[in-house]
Amino acid sequence: MTRTPRSATKKKATYYENSDSEEITEFRPSPPPPKRQRKTPTKKQAAAQAPVEETVGETASGATEDAVQAPAGEVVEAVAAGAAEEPAKPLPKYLEAETKIAVEAVLTASRLCQSVFKALVSEETLTKSDKSPVTVADFGAQSLVNVLLNRHFPTDPIVGEEDSKDLHADTALRTRVLDLVNGVHDQEMSADEMCKYIDLGNYAGGSKGRFWTLDPIDGTKGFLRGEQYAVCLALVVDGKVELGVLGCPNLPVNLAEPEGERGCLFVATRGGGAFQRTFSSDILTKISVTDVKKASETVFCESVEAGHSSQSDAAQIASLLGITGESVRMDSQCKYGIVSRGSAGIYLRVPVSETYEEKIWDHAGGMLIVEEAGGVVTDIDGKHLDFSVGRTLKNNKGVVAAGKHIHAEVLSAVKAVLKREEPKL
Ligand code: AMP
Ligand code: MG
Repeated sequence: MTRTPRSATKKKATYYENSDSEEITEFRPSPPPPKRQRKTPTKKQAAAQAPVEETVGETASGATEDAVQAPAGEVVEAVAAGAAEEPAKPLPKYLEAETKIAVEAVLTASRLCQSVFKALVSEETLTKSDKSPVTVADFGAQSLVNVLLNRHFPTDPIVGEEDSKDLHADTALRTRVLDLVNGVHDQEMSADEMCKYIDLGNYAGGSKGRFWTLDPIDGTKGFLRGEQYAVCLALVVDGKVELGVLGCPNLPVNLAEPEGERGCLFVATRGGGAFQRTFSSDILTKISVTDVKKASETVFCESVEAGHSSQSDAAQIASLLGITGESVRMDSQCKYGIVSRGSAGIYLRVPVSETYEEKIWDHAGGMLIVEEAGGVVTDIDGKHLDFSVGRTLKNNKGVVAAGKHIHAEVLSAVKAVLKREEPKL
């Protein structure tokens, strides 16, 4: 028997319309909730949530739904007002429940991707040139994450990379994805329900209210090669990224030991610092970007795909900076992960096309994690990445992420090589 979750009957929001996709008349979550009084943590809230230890336990544990929906400041006041009657409750950390669910969603989706890879790629039931394993995993991961987000935060819209139009056209593919999802998920779904969950990701984004942004498999080529890919989830509130989670199933815990333990998860909330854990342990370790003072003392990372970032321009930038080591070429937002923990000092994404607009799901989580680890992230003109203008970063070009002491030096080398004009102030 199949059940339609209660939250699946919610209606109408402004959605990105893919002209090729089927019309969905029901099943959309409510529009974003009305503007809240306070969207970013005050210093007091940030201090309350910021761990002081280098290593702490799980980010979130057992926050109530009430605590989730109220801004942290309001909860603080409510506790203070009721202090005479009720015993004091522990203060919820900023976005505590969102963090808990996002981590769970990313881990579940990452494990699903790993099992698809094992079954369909590594056991060579299909050749690596066959794209279908990544398609199956992509859709499966997006539907699992959307189910979890919709169950816990039914009014939050989602900007997801995938929509279900390819599944409507291919019944065999749809059945494979459905079997996969129903094999993992606690609540059996029909094909239609699964497609509707996938299409919850059709939100248009923008500058008002809160929404999630999801790339179920960032770095699809890395996934197919058995190399790096990432499940990327972030929460954007009034155009600012407030929470980011990256699941990197194949990322070595120590890059110098590629045959050692693999599987890293990165998580950050605004004002709360950045943390890493492995897939096998829920212990979070605080991470920081490199503190080198000169770019020549570090290495830079870039895309494996020359079609995503100009490797020749990056080589010239590195040479101008006096960087002699090889670049670290890696697919996906894992690059933000290794910069955030200091395994590389710089991430360069140099545009190869005048017209390409970076997608918000390719950068939201990674950017916040690097910033919370003490780094600086801008585009190649030194502008902050603007997540408030829809599904793409149309106000930005490329990415320069680096440790805070070297970002200005790297940016001036980028401008010199690319001959970018100084922005007019
Ligand atoms: P990476 O693994 O860092 O090379 O980035 C993978 C992402 O590159 C994919 O998720 C795509 O959204 C994105 N992408 C596709 N085409 C381009 C392009 N021409 N320039 C930059 N990024 C691109
Ligand atoms: Mg991507």
